[in-house]
Amino acid sequence: MPTHHLHIEGQVQGVGFRPFVYRLAHEMGIKGWVSNGVDGVHITAASETASLDEFCRRLVDEAPYCSVITHFINTPLPEQTFSDFTIQPSRQAGQPKLLLTPDMGLCDNCRRELHEGGNRRFHYAFTTCTFCGPRYSIIRKLPYDREFTTMEVFDMCPDCRQEYTDPLDRRYFSQTNSCPACAVHLQLSDRQGNSLSLDPEDIISRASDLLLEGRILAVKGIGGYLLVADATNRSAIQTLRDRKHRPSKPFALLYPDIETLAGDVILSPHDKGAFLSIESPILLLTLLEKPASGIQTDLIAPQLSQIGAMRPYTPLFEWLSQQFRRPLIATSGNISGSPIYYDDQDALTSLAPLADFFITNDRAITTPQDDSVVRFTPEAGQRIVIRRSRGYAPTFIGSSLDGHADSLLAMGADMKSTFPCFTRATYT
Ligand SMILES: [Zn+2]
Ligand SMILES: [Zn+2]
Repeated sequence: MPTHHLHIEGQVQGVGFRPFVYRLAHEMGIKGWVSNGVDGVHITAASETASLDEFCRRLVDEAPYCSVITHFINTPLPEQTFSDFTIQPSRQAGQPKLLLTPDMGLCDNCRRELHEGGNRRFHYAFTTCTFCGPRYSIIRKLPYDREFTTMEVFDMCPDCRQEYTDPLDRRYFSQTNSCPACAVHLQLSDRQGNSLSLDPEDIISRASDLLLEGRILAVKGIGGYLLVADATNRSAIQTLRDRKHRPSKPFALLYPDIETLAGDVILSPHDKGAFLSIESPILLLTLLEKPASGIQTDLIAPQLSQIGAMRPYTPLFEWLSQQFRRPLIATSGNISGSPIYYDDQDALTSLAPLADFFITNDRAITTPQDDSVVRFTPEAGQRIVIRRSRGYAPTFIGSSLDGHADSLLAMGADMKSTFPCFTRATYT
């Protein structure tokens, strides 16, 4: 059989690329194997030439939504015979030549399962699949395999392992796979660090009650801690402003659903699309004269006609939002002017003066990130990224180094040690 080696570079790990290749190969009767390397995805494919051409075309055209292919190198090999198409263990040798994958918000399937009574991940606050969940914030090194992420310490239960090894399951090779039986654990604690509950149902129920009482919670999200409070409660918002020493800078809001949001702001089709997108950025939106949800706009965004709103992008925020049913303030857990806290001990020490209670978990964050901020121009609907972070970064925007000997480091001029672009001349 004609045999080719395909080397695909770009954002191709942690996005369901290997399972996609596997399924496509089986569908088309291609034999061979696929493997992750530190320099991308490697495929050896054997079939008739026409079929191999079609396979290559579909690999590019039908690649998973979150993947970005930067290079596709097709090399003929001496003819080989394979009995099947398999996923082989990752190859760790070589020079890293891969794009890191950004964190992705909760996908529709995982969102549905979170609320589906009887589902084994019903009310599981860390459900993910190959199409959603943290990536960049939990990775230690490449290639993107569980042992190189902070999921390493969580052993999969038999059911999860079954999903992980079933090519037809959407959790096939999902490195973040876990469930209540092999769970990432939630904990509610007071500001002194005393544990109050380890039972997720109890924690969410108590958290909702505490928010109703006007308490401020520090909640560990994907990229760090957020401070969360009832956006309809004047005294809670004022307390948060006083404690944060932030007299007027606007707070972002977390909305339980798009219907509640539509009662408060003007929503264009572009806004709706971005609100529902897997990137789940903070969207800047123009307020209606009388917001229906009861949010206290003069305290949330003083002197402004716009607010920043986002959809719950983690299962935990989704569950808490659905329990609470009102917009929540969700602002970075930091002291004014400093970066977001993401280490549990640092957060407990530093946020204790700001938060009344903490909801933490035992999955470590390796790289902190704030929420991204986006707006659309009113007429043309052009997207303007005001802060490129969770969901959008890191990303690939093209290389202009071809033909140059030196590497390039481009630094932003904005706050918080922006690190926007780094590339090496050998990366061509
Ligand atoms: Zn998912
Ligand atoms: Zn499990």
